[in-house]
Amino acid sequence: MASHSSNGSKHLQGHASDVVVVTPCGACKMLRRRCVEKCILAPHFPPTEPLKFAMAHRVFGASNIVKLLQELKESERADAVSSMVYEANARIIDPVYGSAGTIFQLQNQVNELHAQLAKAKAEIFNMNCQLEVMVSTEMCRSSQTISHQSFNEFEDGSFSSIPCVYLDDDQDSSWDNIIWA
Ligand SMILES: [Zn+2]
Repeated sequence: MASHSSNGSKHLQGHASDVVVVTPCGACKMLRRRCVEKCILAPHFPPTEPLKFAMAHRVFGASNIVKLLQELKESERADAVSSMVYEANARIIDPVYGSAGTIFQLQNQVNELHAQLAKAKAEIFNMNCQLEVMVSTEMCRSSQTISHQSFNEFEDGSFSSIPCVYLDDDQDSSWDNIIWA
């Protein structure tokens, strides 16, 4: 004899080909009807989660749930039930907007976070600009202490990536006066 579902329910031989299950599924228990082995609701509404069917039944009605599940492939039914239960919960909490209310709320949060992100990026940009101004000001001050000739050679780019220390700021200082760090 085939088993009913993973809940390990015992079952009895009923009329014709229907096998009546001793422990009905959550849906049949609530509807006070006998649950059969091939009950379409049983895999999705276990007796251990009575509220799950209660919510969906309250919003959609048992016959609509059964009708919808019958129109779907078996592989799609679990997702459809999850979706219906989610929508039913949302509809009970917010009878006007249901899950759309949650979507609006989350969309507003996304918009607010986008605005905050744009503001933070603008602040970072401004701080970087200030930093660049400070660095260039500092470089101008430093350059006044570096010999003009050395500074020009430094600025032409050939040595700009190599950190170095100038020993003195004598006008006649040459590359001999530079110690490479
Ligand atoms: Zn059932």
